Amino acid sequence: VQAVAPISRTPYFCSGCPHNTSTKVPEGSRAFAGIGCHFMALWMDRNTETYTHMGGEGVPWVGVAPFTKEEHVFANLGDGTYFHSGSLAIRQAIASGANITYKILYNDATAMTGGQHVDGELSPQQITFQLHSEGIREIYLVSENPDAYPASEIAPGVKTAHRDELDAVMRTCRELKGTSAIVFVQTCAAEKRRRRKRGLMEDPPRRVMINPAVCEGCGDCSVQSNCISVEPLETELGRKRTINQSTCNKDYSCLKGFCPSFVTIDGGKPRRRAPAELGDIGALPEPISMPALERPYNIAIGGVGGTGVLTIGALLGMAAHIEGKASMILDMSGLAQKGGAVLSHVRLSEHTADVTCSRIVTGTADLVLAADEVVAVSKDTITLCESGRTVGIINSHVIPTADFILNRDFNFQSRNVNAVLETALRKDSSFYDFTKPAEALLGDSIATNIMMMGYAYQKGLLPLSAAAIEQAIEVNGVSIKMNTQAFRLGRLAAAEPARLEAMMKGQDRKEAPKPLEAMSLDEIIDHRSRLLTDYQNAKLAERYRNLVSQVRDAAIKGGYGEALPRAVAVNYAKLLAYKDEYEVARLYTDGKFEQQLRDQFEGDFKISFNLAPPILSRGVDALGRPKKRAFGAWMLPIFRLLAKLRVLRGTAFDIFAHSPDRKLERDLIAGYEKDVATVLGLLSPVTVDTAVELLSLPDRIRGYGPVKEKAVQDAKARYAQLAADLASPPPAPRQLAAE
Ligand code: SF4
Ligand code: SF4
Repeated sequence: VQAVAPISRTPYFCSGCPHNTSTKVPEGSRAFAGIGCHFMALWMDRNTETYTHMGGEGVPWVGVAPFTKEEHVFANLGDGTYFHSGSLAIRQAIASGANITYKILYNDATAMTGGQHVDGELSPQQITFQLHSEGIREIYLVSENPDAYPASEIAPGVKTAHRDELDAVMRTCRELKGTSAIVFVQTCAAEKRRRRKRGLMEDPPRRVMINPAVCEGCGDCSVQSNCISVEPLETELGRKRTINQSTCNKDYSCLKGFCPSFVTIDGGKPRRRAPAELGDIGALPEPISMPALERPYNIAIGGVGGTGVLTIGALLGMAAHIEGKASMILDMSGLAQKGGAVLSHVRLSEHTADVTCSRIVTGTADLVLAADEVVAVSKDTITLCESGRTVGIINSHVIPTADFILNRDFNFQSRNVNAVLETALRKDSSFYDFTKPAEALLGDSIATNIMMMGYAYQKGLLPLSAAAIEQAIEVNGVSIKMNTQAFRLGRLAAAEPARLEAMMKGQDRKEAPKPLEAMSLDEIIDHRSRLLTDYQNAKLAERYRNLVSQVRDAAIKGGYGEALPRAVAVNYAKLLAYKDEYEVARLYTDGKFEQQLRDQFEGDFKISFNLAPPILSRGVDALGRPKKRAFGAWMLPIFRLLAKLRVLRGTAFDIFAHSPDRKLERDLIAGYEKDVATVLGLLSPVTVDTAVELLSLPDRIRGYGPVKEKAVQDAKARYAQLAADLASPPPAPRQLAAE
């Protein structure tokens, strides 16, 4: 029986995909899905249901509408589908009189299948005329640049709006009778990337970066952008966010995250790590043995779409051909282009007649080469494994899954994933972070897969010669030098791991901070004490240590373990070091941010801070939150001054002290200190778990302004329950007497 995969790799919208915004529906509404990438909205928190064949979009509602009290739905329809047959579905909806709003998602490509052009010529303007001719009178054209669509070029009565106003437009449409339409124009992000690469489209010189010290890990930027390039960053202060500059498609939706952590960089470019001067790796010993090909040799190769997984199968097939051996390859790429899982079945044999089918039969893989543990543990891969036969070469580098977008604290379950793999694979399997040397020595994570192939070769797990594999790399004709080096470095990792480690010294990026999870209680207390001294002064750090010591002593005395003092060590420090104007200013000017900026970008660039300071606030955004504005580098001297003025914090001269946010933060500290006293008075074996949860509640209160206010309200609801349980603990579940 195969273990169930603890997590899975679900395909998702690309970074900066227009559907991240266009498929949202206002609260209280729902949408019907259609054919195309936007179908994936079904897997997200988008209140989107059902789907139809091409050209049937919204028509199920025509049948349902007369028999339900529900007043209205939205139906998503891609531009390719619209041109093919979707216009007929709209005609049917109009004829029926049903209340429905079609959202025609004009992304200028048949994106799901790789960005082909929509057949025929069809502009957003033409669509408005066609819809008008069909009889729709409420039509909106929503885009990034409404001025590009003057009234003279669109159908009569069509209203234009910016994409930030989509929610308001949809709220208007859902109150209308009959059929209405929104033409949402934004080019497919993957297509934009291709066009920019080929010089067919302007590549905006602007990038976005997050200052991790200012980031609170609230997840609002992920909620607003739905973007997979906003990735987790594990730090000593817990999980923060970072932008993956390699995958970012520059649509800037993440800037809507309500916080002062975002910095925009105009000009310059991401600093690419130059490949190390590797010199000659020298001759490596040949593997002691090689698999015999008395029977076909089965290799399953898995990874994330777009990372060169299929190339490995192709190289092995070519190497086999060069040696006069036979190969059969079955690529299952599924939604590879959308970050989904990719799996290749590669079967090698001495003679063509030995392999009659390309699929590896259940439990007969000899080798699993997996560049991603999540794909390795998926049902499709793991069912091919048999613990007495299958050797795994597994890349232990964690690649975030899209679940993180919907759950800011998503647990990537590395331990459980490893446990499942260890059970399914032979004991001599290898788990190794191949991405690290690929990035450190070759400057590109794309070399990961070929390093793994070299490693497998050196371990005697490939029935092919190194010469044939290197020749196949040459025949492939892409990045020959890097790929050959990657293959040799993979061999080195297996033959002389210490030498590889030595080569990486000095090449590796700065030591990553120890993640909070891995820190001991003493390390946490030391780290937070230093932080609070910098934040305010040694007195504040002392106040912190005193309270934590009290809790620690009580926990030791009662034999309650470290969970409670750990909770207080983390959460009390978080409350004490609330991020007010002085602190944000300090975190931009203490030298660390500048260093990170220089580490990540090179060339001439200008920076802007994206802020919504309450005292300078002007107007609200589409979500009713204070509008963020860009402030240039001239803010830095002001930040420096503000950082110095932190000595005024809490004094009569503190000009920010009276704002509601600051008052709330001071109340939270006072409340927490009181709670600690109450908890210590009621601490017992029955209450300790409740106490830990109650004193960990500040961790749920993350973010700034309205995001933080909402978090406080949510935490308060849980607080009331926990406080009641603490005062009168619920009876322990009755133990059943053993018979
Ligand atoms: S504070 Fe919240 S919105 Fe801002 S970067 Fe961090 S996670 Fe994103
Ligand atoms: S700018 Fe932000 S939202 Fe847009 S693609 Fe990059 S990370 Fe994603």
